[in-house]
Amino acid sequence: MKVLVVGSGGREHAIAWKLSQSPQVKVFCAPGNGGTAMLERCQNLPLSVEDFDGIGEFARSHNIDLVVVGPEVPLALGITDYLQRQGTKVFGPTRAGAQIEASKAWAKALMQEAKIPTAKAVIFHQAAAAKDYVKSQGAPIVVKADGLAAGKGVTVAETIDQAHSAIEAIFQGQFGKGEFVVIEECLTGQEASVLALTDGLTIRPLLPAQDHKRIGEGDTGENTGGMGVYAPAPIVTPLMAEVEAKVLQSAIATLKKKGIDYRGVLYAGLMISPNGEFKVLEFNCRFGDPETQAILPLLETPLEDLLLACVEQRLAQMPPIAWKTGASACVVIAAGGYPGTYEKGKVITGIDSAAALGANVFHAGTKLVQANEENLLAPSHSPLATHLVTDGGRVLGVTGTGDNFEQAIALAYQAVDCIKFEKMYYRRDIGYRVKSKAVN
Ligand code: ATP
Repeated sequence: MKVLVVGSGGREHAIAWKLSQSPQVKVFCAPGNGGTAMLERCQNLPLSVEDFDGIGEFARSHNIDLVVVGPEVPLALGITDYLQRQGTKVFGPTRAGAQIEASKAWAKALMQEAKIPTAKAVIFHQAAAAKDYVKSQGAPIVVKADGLAAGKGVTVAETIDQAHSAIEAIFQGQFGKGEFVVIEECLTGQEASVLALTDGLTIRPLLPAQDHKRIGEGDTGENTGGMGVYAPAPIVTPLMAEVEAKVLQSAIATLKKKGIDYRGVLYAGLMISPNGEFKVLEFNCRFGDPETQAILPLLETPLEDLLLACVEQRLAQMPPIAWKTGASACVVIAAGGYPGTYEKGKVITGIDSAAALGANVFHAGTKLVQANEENLLAPSHSPLATHLVTDGGRVLGVTGTGDNFEQAIALAYQAVDCIKFEKMYYRRDIGYRVKSKAVN
């Protein structure tokens, strides 16, 4: 079986790694990264995620059995529609389905129609009216740009002034078209992620996970793409049946009612209050990153079987998803300066030693380069030797698994200790909430 994974982050490395565990699967990655380049039975392709013609042509000429789309941008641009038109099987929703992530206003309307618990929200087409509303509601309050903004389009405003500045920035077009703004009630509690596989009819939730979005220890500082994650998140486990019925099933049923045949991952970002009530903060239309790096190492069922069952709409006939017992924890190593400016091209060492301990080292922002005088890399024994260098803000995700959270977290940090590159940064408190908790 030939599978083409679209994307280049830690999520795609985790997907490609899991697929390549099955000896009958040959994996291609477009474009992949340093980690996917080093996987057995995996080959990187020099194709960008938005090069639909290139990806389509490769899929046709190489008889690709399944394309798995990692990031949201190509889904929102319609890669699934494009590939389906040429008869290629794709895991990931069509452009219509991807609106659930690509338009916050659309997602909110869907949640209201499906009666999914979510924060109260109002849409404004004019800055003045939005500002008046914010004044009437008071702070804290949340201001959201409508489209995809890589996490930058949302402001949790602590003051009215902050909310007003965010509204102005949106109408000035700093995040897409700037035609309207979504103003939302500010929720408090713990955030958690529930990802589910779906074939448009049936839902199969994966293990719930909890990310650490802030750059600083103790959940302080700027928001990031995610600095670490663990699974299964004990705060969600007792709520899973309710989340499945009230959120995931309702969303899929409402999508179907709208004529949208949604096949892929439906990811619900939840806010859970101290008394265990939950509301949906957002939906995403793809695997979470870094959540996938903690979830897939616990998955026992071959991933390709599940993804293909989604695409062929036979998820209901699949046996229950099999999971390893125990827990996992993923620590993200970033380049110093991230999520602001950071340098690239730093030589990374110690990955083999980290992997030898039994951890999974997923690459997010890395690339393999040839050592030569121009790039001034450390001298090597062979003139053709390759080196792994940093190539992004989030560089690696190091996942430990174990019988419990303590073991999983300890293994992840032992492995992190093996890895070195100039100005590397990571949080030392990943999993602080669950360290002494049992997996339930
Ligand atoms: P973007 O649209 O910029 O790509 P995103 O899709 O990540 O961002 P959201 O997930 O809706 O946007 O929001 C980002 C973060 O903002 C959430 O993870 C959460 O921390 C915070 N947030 C969003 N909505 C609320 C809310 N109603 N109350 C409190 N915090 C919120």
